[in-house]
Parts: sequence; C-alpha cells; structure tokens
Amino acid sequence: MSKKIIIANWKMNPVSKKEAEKLFVSINKSISNVKNTEVIICPPVIYLNKLKAISYKLKAKLGAQNFFYEESGAYTGEISANMVYELGARYVILGHSERRIMGENSDDVNKKIKASLRESIIPIVCIGEKERDENHNYLSFIREQLEVGFKNISKDVLSKIIIAYEPVWAIGKNATREATPEEFLEMKIFIKKVLSMTFGVKCKIPRVIYGGSVNEKNVVDFIEKGEADGFLIGRASLDVKKFSKIVNMVENIY
Ligand code: PEP
Repeated sequence: MSKKIIIANWKMNPVSKKEAEKLFVSINKSISNVKNTEVIICPPVIYLNKLKAISYKLKAKLGAQNFFYEESGAYTGEISANMVYELGARYVILGHSERRIMGENSDDVNKKIKASLRESIIPIVCIGEKERDENHNYLSFIREQLEVGFKNISKDVLSKIIIAYEPVWAIGKNATREATPEEFLEMKIFIKKVLSMTFGVKCKIPRVIYGGSVNEKNVVDFIEKGEADGFLIGRASLDVKKFSKIVNMVENIY
C-alpha cells in the first residue's frame, strides 16, 4: 500500500521569513515520529531557499505553489520549474482554483505538468467544480479539466502525478460546506474512469487526494469511507497543533 500524502498549502503566509522558519521547524518537530505518511510543505517561493537550508534531516519535503512552463526568456515576473527545483522544491501545486480565478486555464496546467515532469518535480494537479447542479453538469466540467490538463502526457508517468480534488465551494473561509467522504469517493471513481478511457484500462492511476476545509474531525472519514490517498490543506496547515494532529491521525489509521 502506498503512503498517504499530506500537502500544506501556506498560500501567501506567513508574513516573514522568520515566522516561516519557526512554523516549518515546529511542524517538523511535531511529526518527527511519522513513518507512513509523506508530508509536503508548500511555502511562498521566497522562503524556499531558507527552508531548504534547514530541511536537511527533517521529515517534511518542500514544494512550490506554482511556476511558469517556459525554461527561460522574456517573461517578466515569472519563475521556471528549474528555478524552483534549485530552491529545493520537489513538488508543485498546479491549477489551484485561486490561480484559475486569475486566468490560468487547463491548457496552461497541461504545459506546467509537462514542465514539472521534465524537471523531476512531482505535480499536484488541482481540479474541482465551482458549483454542483442537480443535472450533474459538474462532471463534464471535471472531465474537461482532466482531458485538457492531461493531454499528451505519457501513460508511463501517470502514476507519478498527484490529483487533488478540491471543490471550489468547499475551500477557504467562504466555503459553503466541506464535501462528504461519499462525494469524494464518487469523484475518485469518476476520475479513474475518465483517465482509463484516455490512457487505457491498464494505466496506473495517480493518487487522488482531497482538499477543502480539511480538519481533525473529517480526516479519518475521508480516508476510511472516502478512500482518499491524502489531503491538500490550506488554513489548518498554518496551525501547528491542528496540522500535526491531522498528520498523526492519518498516520495511525493503519
Ligand atoms: C486550499 O486552498 O487548497 C484549501 C484546501 O484550503 P482550506 O483547507 O483552507 O479549505
């Protein structure tokens, strides 16, 4: 059985390098006994280098929250996959809904998945509908995100990718509610179906994790009833107590 994976998306937090270092060290201390769970911290890119320097021998690995798909050139304000690799990132969050709202589309996500695999960075590909409707049109929305996002990706590298199902309505402080484990499981089955239709029934399906208002009260059900392979966590990842409790709970499910 593959390890569960827990990814912390710090977004544009905390506000100083000193605080980032303190948070990173405290989280690592609180998860030092963890063996069966992979923990990835994705801080703002500006803190990566510092955290890389202290991450030696620590449990958590580092990831970036984004990069641009070109290798170099006239792209003011952008940063490449290789640049974040140099800073210590071995994972990257791609297609987060907060980036899609700013104009990123599935075609961009597709180019970024290819760039990350080229640079040996594991892509964490976020998908999720903005709203649910009775006619299940949201399934076509998810299918489109998968079909365009995974276009021309070799099936041999499929199992390296992590898919984060994050319904937009369940994310952040404006969430209407969290998804249920049953809704997640239904989506995991749907994702497998779409990918099997594209890549063939024998393809190795990526791990599918859940994101959206994850907390200490819902993680066990998402794994036991929803068969989640892990979590992408926003708010709770900035709170050492909450985050370490979640990681330790997931660790002890076995
Ligand atoms: C996120 O933004 O990826 C997320 C899951 O946020 P939260 O856990 O705060 O809902």
